[in-house]
Amino acid sequence: MTSRVIPVDPFDLVIFGGTGDLARRKILPGLFHRFCAGQMPPSARIIGAARTDLDHDGYRGIVAEAIEEFGGNLGGKAQKLKDFLDTVFYVTIDAQGEDGWPELQEFCKQKDRIEAFYFSVSPSLFGDLAERLHHWGMAGPETRIVVEKPFGRDLATAKHLNATLAAHFSEDQIYRIDHYLGKETVQNLMAVRFGNMLFEPLWNSQYVDHIQITVAETVGVGGRGEYYDKAGAMRDMVQNHLMQLLCLIAMEPPARFAPDAVRDEKLKVIRALDPVLPHHITRGQYEAEQGAEKQHPSYREAVGDPRSKTESFIALKCHISNWRWAGTPFYMRTGKRMSARSSEISVVFKETPHSIFGADAGRHRNVLSIRLQPNEGITLGVTIKEPGPGGMRLIDVPLDMTFAEALGDDSEHVDAYERLIMDVIRGNQTLFMRGDEVEAAWAWTDPIIEGWESRGEVPKPYPSGTDGTTDSHELMRRDGRKWREVSP
Ligand code: NAP
Repeated sequence: MTSRVIPVDPFDLVIFGGTGDLARRKILPGLFHRFCAGQMPPSARIIGAARTDLDHDGYRGIVAEAIEEFGGNLGGKAQKLKDFLDTVFYVTIDAQGEDGWPELQEFCKQKDRIEAFYFSVSPSLFGDLAERLHHWGMAGPETRIVVEKPFGRDLATAKHLNATLAAHFSEDQIYRIDHYLGKETVQNLMAVRFGNMLFEPLWNSQYVDHIQITVAETVGVGGRGEYYDKAGAMRDMVQNHLMQLLCLIAMEPPARFAPDAVRDEKLKVIRALDPVLPHHITRGQYEAEQGAEKQHPSYREAVGDPRSKTESFIALKCHISNWRWAGTPFYMRTGKRMSARSSEISVVFKETPHSIFGADAGRHRNVLSIRLQPNEGITLGVTIKEPGPGGMRLIDVPLDMTFAEALGDDSEHVDAYERLIMDVIRGNQTLFMRGDEVEAAWAWTDPIIEGWESRGEVPKPYPSGTDGTTDSHELMRRDGRKWREVSP
């Protein structure tokens, strides 16, 4: 199977924060991959922009290093890299001052192309950038801006940010990135749900017992301690990534696979979410790891605050009050320093109403698991007869579609960022969050956070390398259920 790469139209992509971590780790290597795949037209230009004083060649050196470090196997791609670097330019600019803006304006004078500006800087600079782009005549009606998370830290700040951007750009020019939406499997989730007759009739509270969404990381807060301690797992992961996954799994079929049709349905899910009861949430902080092989500081040591009340782990149960899902619980958990790096959505179906095989055969459930990382793929657990003599014993076996195996070379890894940047150039907003979606997600999140803050709750410790607090297992046990194993 060979993939069909359709080149995008000529474009200029200005990366504000072009020297930063995200640009070096994701954006620039991603663009290089699209260049190698033939998707970037030769006339496209990538213009890095930051305060550090560099000329074009100085920046090309940084870009080359970033691609060598983060761009995967470069074997045989030396000439491609050279050609790619010819498309790269740099402007020394201050988002909060006037330096560099005339130079950038000069760059952006070519009107024969799509103009996109990636705000890969602190959100505190988004307003400055939007205002200056407008002031210097670069905020035309066709211009696109890409903004990174975090999009606010509560409803009030998200509204403010939306209003700041809306002062100079219309909603269809704003691309709010949630890179989870760019993952192959996440889009496959929609293909599986809405491209097959098999699942949709069963996709409701009549047949689904519950749904689990787990995003487990093995890393700690690392160098992001200062930012993370002001956010925590709820703001950093649940309000955006897990919420987006919940929407895609729970939404009604949109009439078309078109940006607003999809986003309207996602918004309805968020608005139908019930408030979460305090005893349906558990929060944790990882403890230090002091084994012979691994040694890591505790969460509080990592963030440098021995009294921090910020969670590095959260598990919660929520309900969606609509006809499809009334009575079906959705369990979500995410955390750092867990036993394995794994993101998985599991749709756990109900048991058969009656077992014709008798009590000894046990009760079995089908589970549809959608793995986002690692080994992206979909598994359907089905019940079959255990082979061999000895009567009718039942076992559960997986029908496994690991994309890398099923699709061979064609599943050649397209990173979420690559796909999303190409979508920006194509003008396709389907996989980007709309302003009202972000606000609705904060409107649900805010009371939860205010609740534990007003009660003065402190997260419970959990040992590093485990799957979170004992309370999270208790949350499931009380309902007669179990978390799925976090497997690498
Ligand atoms: P970073 O490493 O601190 O980089 C910030 C960039 O902004 C640098 O290029 C910096 O360059 C530039 N900058 C700072 N002040 C500026 C100013 N006044 N004018 C122009 N440029 C300025 O940050 P990052 O990790 O790349 O994160 C960038 C954005 O992506 C943030 O919104 C972050 O929340 C988001 N994000 C990052 C990640 C990640 O994995 N890194 C993941 C998700 C979201 P100079 O110092 O040379 O100006």
